[in-house]
Amino acid sequence: MKILLVEDEEGLILTLTDRLRSEGFEVVSAKDGTAGFEAATAQKFDLILLDVMLPKKNGYDVCRDLRQQGIVTPVLMLTAKGETIDKVLGLKLGADDYLTKPFEVMELLARIEALLRRSPAKANGHSTAVFTFGEVSVDFKRATVAKEDSAVELSAMEFKLLQYLIENRGIVHSRDHLLDQVWGYDAMPSTRTVDVHIAWLRQKLEENPKRPQFIRTVHGMGYKFAE
Ligand code: CA
Repeated sequence: MKILLVEDEEGLILTLTDRLRSEGFEVVSAKDGTAGFEAATAQKFDLILLDVMLPKKNGYDVCRDLRQQGIVTPVLMLTAKGETIDKVLGLKLGADDYLTKPFEVMELLARIEALLRRSPAKANGHSTAVFTFGEVSVDFKRATVAKEDSAVELSAMEFKLLQYLIENRGIVHSRDHLLDQVWGYDAMPSTRTVDVHIAWLRQKLEENPKRPQFIRTVHGMGYKFAE
């Protein structure tokens, strides 16, 4: 397991690198946002620890740009105590979790474990982060979907919804939960929006959209992706 640590505090870099290595992780560090972004696009990591206040490019911008590049590596943001933490902004930009400094290393390790467990690459058992179901293959890294070897056009929201369902497959999600998780906290759309996007995904991906095998309705509860 390889971790990218983007952090400008020398002391913290040393402490965390030592500790993570002793836990068996491979650690690469970058001292500013630009270097961090470049490292994350040049090499494959299993997880990125990303400080918010960084020289050259802040953590929010790094996170947003990585997601725009289709890089789905889990991001755990590190914020200093007293910094205005905009959790909503960070989550909208694609961060997976937050930890406020100073933190206990045990707490950090627990968060890392949790993120690695639900990472798509890990869940699929492939380093390529490609998930297949039926005749469909989803490439999380490139944010592309193919059915029977031809490309399927998905909107950004359809892709996000599909990705969320796949990453959390087997779990039933209410429409409100999907709105929060996929559309974001300040999203205005109604739960009807969720139904519409689900219908579109089925139309594009399911063999028989009227009798979906993968994107399932759980009556009275919501939706789930079949395990
Ligand atoms: Ca910093």
